[in-house]
Amino acid sequence: MLEGKVAIITGGTRGIGLEIVKLFSKNKAKVILFGSRKETVTKAIEKLNEENILVEGYYPNLNNYNELENIVKEINNKYGSIDILVNNAGISANKKIDDTTTEEFSNIMDLNVNAMFNMTKVVVPYMKKQNNGVILNTSSMVSIYGQPSGVGYPASKFAVNGMTKSLARELGQYNIRVNAVAPGITNTDMVSNLPKEMIEPLIKTIPLGRIGEPIDIANAFLFLASPMASYITGTILSVDGAARS
Ligand code: NAD
Repeated sequence: MLEGKVAIITGGTRGIGLEIVKLFSKNKAKVILFGSRKETVTKAIEKLNEENILVEGYYPNLNNYNELENIVKEINNKYGSIDILVNNAGISANKKIDDTTTEEFSNIMDLNVNAMFNMTKVVVPYMKKQNNGVILNTSSMVSIYGQPSGVGYPASKFAVNGMTKSLARELGQYNIRVNAVAPGITNTDMVSNLPKEMIEPLIKTIPLGRIGEPIDIANAFLFLASPMASYITGTILSVDGAARS
């Protein structure tokens, strides 16, 4: 479904991002994954190689615009286009406001919002020139419902939806589609780090009776990245088993 496409995926070393890396590669995209550290990127690539999935990796600081510009330029020089960007890297929060420092709040915004802006701003000139491109953002079900603690996380994901809908309107004239996937609770490290008391009551509210698997989410990304979604832009696609928190 993605033959010949060059795709950059941030937060591609584990969880949802890693599953997107695998699925896009199986669908014949040339995938470049970004992670936060050299060790995790190297380890992820080694594991993928064992499964005969050949990808390249970088570990830029997503808040360093110049560094991102240089890397994307290098990728474009090597492969000739930047067709798909998946802004997936993200961190969450669960502390009550009294226990959340301004620094912790800013850290979430830095990665979930500012880094997404940086990556998008870097790839857009290439996509405009190509008159073609797909930008996909990882939102969350908390971008619709909020959550009872950890206010920085839903605040950041509401911003993701705002960026998605606004850029879809701004960039449609260049044949650049911008969409987001809003996963429900998904079986990754992000969730295994949360307290059981927080997760178990949530599962009971999910009509499909289970949490999502990374492949459930990656399938939605594949659809939105592919020509099957050629007339879809500005959409926040919920993939959450109809969970309502
Ligand atoms: P995860 O913790 O397993 O993976 C997070 C990824 O982000 C990793 O690849 C990591 O390298 C990267 N990352 C973390 N900090 C980084 C930094 N400072 N710089 C660069 N990269 C960094 O999490 P996940 O569950 O796979 O989450 C992926 C995305 O899905 C996030 O945007 C998250 O908000 C979203 N999401 C997750 C769930 C869930 O239940 N797991 C639900 C809704 C949305």
